Amino acid sequence: MIKDESVEKIIDESQQGSTLTLENNHKNTRKLYIESYGCQMNFSDSEIVASILAKEGFNTTQILDEADLVLVNTCSIREKAEQTVRKRLEKFNAVKKTNPSMKVGVLGCMAERLKSKFLEEEKIVDMVVGPDAYKDLPNLIQEIDEGRNAVNVILSKDETYGDVAPVRLNSNGVTAFVSITRGCDNMCTFCVVPFTRGRERSRDPQSILQEVSELWEKGFKEITLLGQNVDSYLWYGGGLKKDYEKASDMQKATSVNFAKLLELVAEAQPKMRIRFSTSNPQDMTLDVIEAMSKYENICNYIHLPVQSGSNRILKAMNRLHTREEYFELIDNIKKIIPDCAISQDMITGFPTETEEDHQDTLSLMEYVKYDFGFMFAYSERPGTLAERKMEDDVPEAVKKRRLTEIIELQQKHSHYRTQQHLGKTEEVLIEGTSKKSDAHWMGRNSQNTVVVFPKEHYNIGDFVHVKINECTSATLIGEAVGYSKNN
Ligand code: SAM
Repeated sequence: MIKDESVEKIIDESQQGSTLTLENNHKNTRKLYIESYGCQMNFSDSEIVASILAKEGFNTTQILDEADLVLVNTCSIREKAEQTVRKRLEKFNAVKKTNPSMKVGVLGCMAERLKSKFLEEEKIVDMVVGPDAYKDLPNLIQEIDEGRNAVNVILSKDETYGDVAPVRLNSNGVTAFVSITRGCDNMCTFCVVPFTRGRERSRDPQSILQEVSELWEKGFKEITLLGQNVDSYLWYGGGLKKDYEKASDMQKATSVNFAKLLELVAEAQPKMRIRFSTSNPQDMTLDVIEAMSKYENICNYIHLPVQSGSNRILKAMNRLHTREEYFELIDNIKKIIPDCAISQDMITGFPTETEEDHQDTLSLMEYVKYDFGFMFAYSERPGTLAERKMEDDVPEAVKKRRLTEIIELQQKHSHYRTQQHLGKTEEVLIEGTSKKSDAHWMGRNSQNTVVVFPKEHYNIGDFVHVKINECTSATLIGEAVGYSKNN
């Protein structure tokens, strides 16, 4: 992660482990402390959980010691993420000594991966709940209230929580995430997600449109459509994506793909900014790029993880596209939307990665010159194809050295990209006060780059034209020159 002012929203390191609170309902008597780790999807799920539990008599609290129920929404993507959660459980254990009636539940990907093993390994844990079982929480809590441990890690074919109105926790009141797909069918050989979040399914577009219009009515100005692989979105009346083949002719004729969904949302709320994440190169089609270019309110930014620049490694990762096909996609994006920002996820030290493969990654980065990126050393995950079939044979020191090299190159490219904004006047949506100065606002331009400028008479939620005067590799610094027509 190399952004500084306010890191990109998908994996916001500054948010890791943050507690989520919502407005108290005075009728509720029990206190819920909920902490989230991992990707934005998890933070979004915690909002669904808090919404379900608000109806079960729970108010949220930020004070661990006073909690009746502690929930930790976990991530399994890399080993380090799991270690962080284990450390937190030690802390909860210490608190439980002074508050023995406190119950502890583990939610999310780690819960799904370890299932009831969690109860054996971590004596402190009372309840283990997978990502598709949150509607069962009221029953599971009753079980633990009666002194039994409770587990539900059943993955679903159709659960999308489309009917749960998520509460917005710790929201800036301006930007919100709207979940559109759950699960993933890609089976990248390094990735634990298909095992922890199940098969891919899409949410009813009507419920998405309703959530977006409710957000607009509440004053929100920007939404990010969220999923592991949003471009693969396909609604045909419900059910798994892989079962689309079995759908009736009528279901197929009335199905909605991602490009269509984008158009529906863009037209429904023309003054609202629309973003989406994450895109998988193999599923991103030209009609999505064309929809982006057609609607001014769809932001010019694509998070397009590639993971490696080497064809051999891409194949071993089961990424289902080549380096050349990726370049073609990048060329098409830049042709149709010349000022489109692109970001990457990259993994160094995947099994068998040679220096030559690593050089291919560096040269791919040189070709694209990403606006920013999220880079990781390979972490072997239990149950994945890579763990079962390949030896984790790149020494840790080599993985780290290669990681440093790609981070340094990304930093150079990020700086090159931010420099291209100098002297321009760009529309910025104000999200809040700058982390570094109370006298400055922080917002983002269409390309998702953070922009900082003096507050003057402007307010949170305003769309403002900002002239860009200076930049770092992650932040643009400027001055407001007036409201944009979007207000
Ligand atoms: N669904 C997205 C995709 O297809 O690229 C992103 C999923 S994941 C939550 C975010 C990123 O974590 C991945 O893009 C990848 O770079 C990284 N990641 C996933 N598994 C990893 C592993 N075993 N070791 C290191 N990084 C990993």
